[in-house]
Amino acid sequence: MKKFVYGFHEGTAGMKSLLGGKGANLAEMTRIGLPVPSGFTVTTEACNQYYEEGAKLWNGLKEETLQHLAELEEKMGKKLGAVKNPLLVSVRSGSAISMPGMMDTILNLGLNDASVEGLAEGTANPRFAYDSYRRFIQMFSDVVLEIPKYKFDAILDNKKVEKNVEEDTDLTAEDLKDIIEKYKAIVKKECRADFPQDVKDQLFMAIEAVFKSWNNPRANVYRKLNDIPHSLGTAVNIQSMVFGNMGETSGTGVAFTRDPSTGEKKLFGEFLMNAQGEDVVAGIRTPKPILELQNTMPQAYDKFLEVANLLEEHYTDMQDIEFTIENQELYILQTRNGKRTALAAVNIAVDMVKEGRLTKEEAILRVDPLQVEQLLHPAFDEKELEKGKIITKGLPASSGAATGKIYFTPEDVVEANNRGERAILVRAETSPEDIEGMVASQGILTARGGMTSHAAVVARGMGKCCIAGAGEMKIQEANKIFMVGETVYHEGEYISLDGNEGIVYEGEIATKESQLTDNFLELMTWADAIRTLKIRTNADTPRDTKQAIEFGAEGIGLCRTEHMFFEESRIFVMRKMILSRTEEERRKALAELLPMQREDFVEIFKAMGNRPVTVRLLDPPLHEFLPHEEEDIQQLAQKMQVSFTQLQGVVNDLKEMNPMLGHRGCRLAVTYPEIYEMQVRAIIEAAVIVKEEEGIDVVPEIMIPLVGELKELQYNKEIVLKIAKEVLSEKEIPLQYLVGTMIEVPRAAVTADEIATEAEFFSFGTNDLTQMTFGYSRDDAGKFIKEYREKNILEKDPFQRIDRKGVGKLMELASKLGKETRPNIKLGICGEHGGDPDSIEFCHILGLDYVSCSPYRVPVARLAAARAAIINKEQAK
Ligand code: PEP
Ligand code: MG
Repeated sequence: MKKFVYGFHEGTAGMKSLLGGKGANLAEMTRIGLPVPSGFTVTTEACNQYYEEGAKLWNGLKEETLQHLAELEEKMGKKLGAVKNPLLVSVRSGSAISMPGMMDTILNLGLNDASVEGLAEGTANPRFAYDSYRRFIQMFSDVVLEIPKYKFDAILDNKKVEKNVEEDTDLTAEDLKDIIEKYKAIVKKECRADFPQDVKDQLFMAIEAVFKSWNNPRANVYRKLNDIPHSLGTAVNIQSMVFGNMGETSGTGVAFTRDPSTGEKKLFGEFLMNAQGEDVVAGIRTPKPILELQNTMPQAYDKFLEVANLLEEHYTDMQDIEFTIENQELYILQTRNGKRTALAAVNIAVDMVKEGRLTKEEAILRVDPLQVEQLLHPAFDEKELEKGKIITKGLPASSGAATGKIYFTPEDVVEANNRGERAILVRAETSPEDIEGMVASQGILTARGGMTSHAAVVARGMGKCCIAGAGEMKIQEANKIFMVGETVYHEGEYISLDGNEGIVYEGEIATKESQLTDNFLELMTWADAIRTLKIRTNADTPRDTKQAIEFGAEGIGLCRTEHMFFEESRIFVMRKMILSRTEEERRKALAELLPMQREDFVEIFKAMGNRPVTVRLLDPPLHEFLPHEEEDIQQLAQKMQVSFTQLQGVVNDLKEMNPMLGHRGCRLAVTYPEIYEMQVRAIIEAAVIVKEEEGIDVVPEIMIPLVGELKELQYNKEIVLKIAKEVLSEKEIPLQYLVGTMIEVPRAAVTADEIATEAEFFSFGTNDLTQMTFGYSRDDAGKFIKEYREKNILEKDPFQRIDRKGVGKLMELASKLGKETRPNIKLGICGEHGGDPDSIEFCHILGLDYVSCSPYRVPVARLAAARAAIINKEQAK
């Protein structure tokens, strides 16, 4: 029979997929002799089997669990549920990939009406015993019996009012006994049964509840967001309890070995005396900075520092450690690689190379390529910030800048976001149910909680700006306001958050371009030395081009020339061209467009220097340049001095049932060759100008879109050659240029050997290639892809990540056929996938020459390409 339960002494750090991250690390820490309370782990395989066969699983699992429980009891010299000196355990979830706060935990399990007396006697601390029982009933009822927490909170709050005390810790044992009776009454009323007194039943019910929590809505949302496979399952860790709430020589805390916001090498975290772990994480009481532990309990602090250093050394990564001190004795309850902001990820990776603890390759693998995009986004403009009026201060829980309107519930944030507003989620504290609101917000502001509160941890993971524990704020969610002193702030008003400093400002504050740090630039140079793919950018304005070069672009992979025609002054001429009734009229309009287009190319070529530039000839269907609403057609007709009927007639003529499969791309030029003639003239003339005036040797790569048949390419290539020859013979200057095509129609991919007889380069237009391979309209697929993903028909949106099986196969075939005909054919990609790390890895594997992506994705692509090179080199070994 399969082994479903492992004692902590039986596992290692390498067993994450079976024992979950928490279980594997508890085993590892036990193995290296750290003070870890004993326990055992029920495997992820048991969880998966539970989902497959339900209650049947229990036949064997119960027995195995009880065996391990007996071993644990013997080791601890205590028995679960005993009347004298009872053993208490925690029951915690833990999957292979950490999902903080998304699943359930139960503490103090093993208490019942009898064992609570034993605990009171054994610890000589009745207050502590009854408080533990109270907490247990509440947690168990919430997680296992599914009775809402607020029903219990109300009783606790009423008691505090009745006794006129502020803190839970001010309640006496007698008060707590009374609360327990009331809690039990709630359970009886809600479940029509007594609170379970059989401790083994408690244990099995708790394990099952943790299994179930793998599938709760917030865990599902979190997995989707973070691409965590549903099939992993969660392990369940059963561990003997140690108590941070035994009095003033006990406490609990969470600490990171480096600052998770900045990466600075210093112990960073918080603790609370006389408290249990949940009090710190849930953000209910505001904890103290870890450094104060040095004064409160110097010996425990020194020991913790020693353990923290050892753990970081052992795992060679920044650790996020949970600890408890029970009567001066330090215990480590968990360690994991700490979540961190993009800034911290880069700083820690680079610092660890400088400390001699990581190689450059390892450092690159430590930074998530998508995360670095956050570093490139704007921060507040300091001058604007000086003028800003400060509302209040909180903890700088997650760096960055955010401006938006105040909303108090996650639902309202989601709605505001759907309306196109920028929203800030303002809340007393967040909980895992708030996840969708947090995703939809620009930033998060909480009144309570510390640097390790739910809001802080989750926001950092998302790279979202967050200020936590802004204690001066008084939030009245029901009235949709918050107050700081006398000032009232209402829903819908703008505020701004500076997540680096923890300052909340009134109103909207302008932002400035981000500053790229030295560590970031250094990491990028390491990536550049390792990657084999070149990184180009999709850019069609001089501004985008300059930005992309700053981010390290090595060329332009796609200049969409149509974007140049949408500018106010140009669209008028473009429309004139479209409305022309004869070739002569059309040529006249095109002659007006020529200098504008040429000027753009001159600017772009200058900005790019000697880097390669691929210019694509006109692609979209012409109707995109005309209005469609009657009122707009009317207005335009007046402006263009044509009749409404005439313009309406043209609009109607251009209407197509499926414009994306209609008269667009090179098909346009088959009908109106003069359009491409003008564009080619503009490109070649601009290249000559730049060569003459600046001495820059531009080699324009002229790209013909939407080719599916060799003769289409031949027809258009002839236009290019004819015009280029004309221009160059006029100028008498030698100029090299290339003619190539996009591979975006499946027929072009399967006949790529023929296409390559004419094409000097291929650029995969994976937007259209995906559209035509799946037969999903790229403009309409959004409507059903979400559902396809929810129903597991598609794992990923194929418009975001290359579908390697289908679209990828076509790319592979086209690359192979293309190279057979023309061994040195240049291969690239310019669809949106060129900025997606997984797709970039695929392009690396295919052996493309470059990927091309939007300017802000360029650093992401540089890192992703290096990562792909490292991983695939390792795999090839
Ligand atoms: C493509 O189809 O992938 C592409 C880059 O072209 P566009 O998105 O402009 O159709
Ligand atoms: Mg396309």
